[in-house]
Amino acid sequence: MKEKIYTIPLTEALKADCECPLCEVEKNIDIKTTQYFIGPAMMEPDTRSLTNSKGFCRRHYDKMLESGNKLSLALILQTRLNEVNNKLAEISKQKKLQKLKKEIDGFQKMFSSCAVCEKVADRMNDCIDNFLYLLKKEPDFRAEFLLSKGLCMKHFNMLVPLITDNGLLEEVVALQVKQSERIKSEIDKFCLKFDYRSTDLDIEDVKDSPARAVYKLRSLI
Ligand SMILES: [Zn+2]
Ligand SMILES: [Zn+2]
Repeated sequence: MKEKIYTIPLTEALKADCECPLCEVEKNIDIKTTQYFIGPAMMEPDTRSLTNSKGFCRRHYDKMLESGNKLSLALILQTRLNEVNNKLAEISKQKKLQKLKKEIDGFQKMFSSCAVCEKVADRMNDCIDNFLYLLKKEPDFRAEFLLSKGLCMKHFNMLVPLITDNGLLEEVVALQVKQSERIKSEIDKFCLKFDYRSTDLDIEDVKDSPARAVYKLRSLI
């Protein structure tokens, strides 16, 4: 199975004791995919055709700017701008309101996709399939996961609909309940510090709980 390639990264991510091992893997896939599009692949006609039509989201454009690979980025932007400007030229020729609006609908679609995000999403679907495979077939992996901090809500919501085994489903849900309650109690303690009656409270152990709660609560959008 092709998703086997994610076994080692998933096993390593589980050992990282983070709020979500799938987020750890996704972070690495995201970095590598961004580097891929701005690396030698940008000279391949198929890849360039994809980035010309889909473009990138704001976050990935920012990542490419930060990469410092300005020439590669400029070449990608050059041909993307060709496509954008051709479409704008077509729009400018439309004199009838209905046709003009239709062209603008098409133009908006050119800015509602991201070549990196779509490739990362494809890879994460394979990765989640592999995660489920490991939970079902590898008792050590399953035991380690059940002792972990669980998943973020985004990846929990992606994994749960794929589980067909009742026992596993109960275990995964129970872990998520326990870990979500743990994060809530950490946030409670953090907030309590700002109550005038508990200014002496030591919050060293929960000082990063807002960042970890944000991580935990990330949604699908
Ligand atoms: Zn996650
Ligand atoms: Zn993106």
